[in-house]
Amino acid sequence: MSIRSHYNIAFKGLSLGKHVFDYEIDGKFFAEFEGSVVDQGKVNVSLTLEKQSSLMIFWFDLKGTVQVQCDRCLEMYDQPIESKERIFVRFGEKEFADGDDLIWVSTNDYQLNVAQLIYEFICLAIPIKKVHPDDENGNTSCDPEMIEKLSKYIIREEDKSNPAWNDLKKLLDNE
Ligand SMILES: [Zn+2]
Repeated sequence: MSIRSHYNIAFKGLSLGKHVFDYEIDGKFFAEFEGSVVDQGKVNVSLTLEKQSSLMIFWFDLKGTVQVQCDRCLEMYDQPIESKERIFVRFGEKEFADGDDLIWVSTNDYQLNVAQLIYEFICLAIPIKKVHPDDENGNTSCDPEMIEKLSKYIIREEDKSNPAWNDLKKLLDNE
C-alpha cells in the first residue's frame, strides 16, 4: 500500500460534525514527491474536518521542522515551520472556478486524498530566505569554515565581473 493512501479521508461514511485526523510527516512522505524541495523533516499535522450537508471544511494545523539548505553557508539545517490552513470542499459539479481554498468533489466520490495538500502547505511554510537561526547570544549558527571559504570565492567572482578587470585584462593581453 502506498504511503499516500494513509492520507485518504473517507468522508462519505463520516457523520455530520467535526472529526480530527493526526499525521506525523517524515522522510518517507517527502520521498513520495518527485523533485521535492524537502527530503527530511518531522512535521505534525492535525486535520480537523467539519462535515456539513453540502460542504466540508478542512482545517490543517502544521507544526515541525524540515531540513533545508542554508542560503548563506550551504549546510543543511532544521528549519522550524508552523502554519494553519483552511480548505473548503464542496459536493457537486464544479459551478465556478476553483479558488485557492476551494475543492469540488463529485457526489459519487467517497474519499479525498490530502497528501498533496499537506505537501504544498509544508512547502509554503518554508521561508523564502533560508538561513541558520541565530543562537541564544544572537550569533549566527552558520558553519564558520564554509562562510570563510565562500566569502573568498564570492569576492573572486565579483572581481571577474568588474568592468575594470576586463579593461585590465585587455591591457595585459595587448602587451
Ligand atoms: Zn548557515
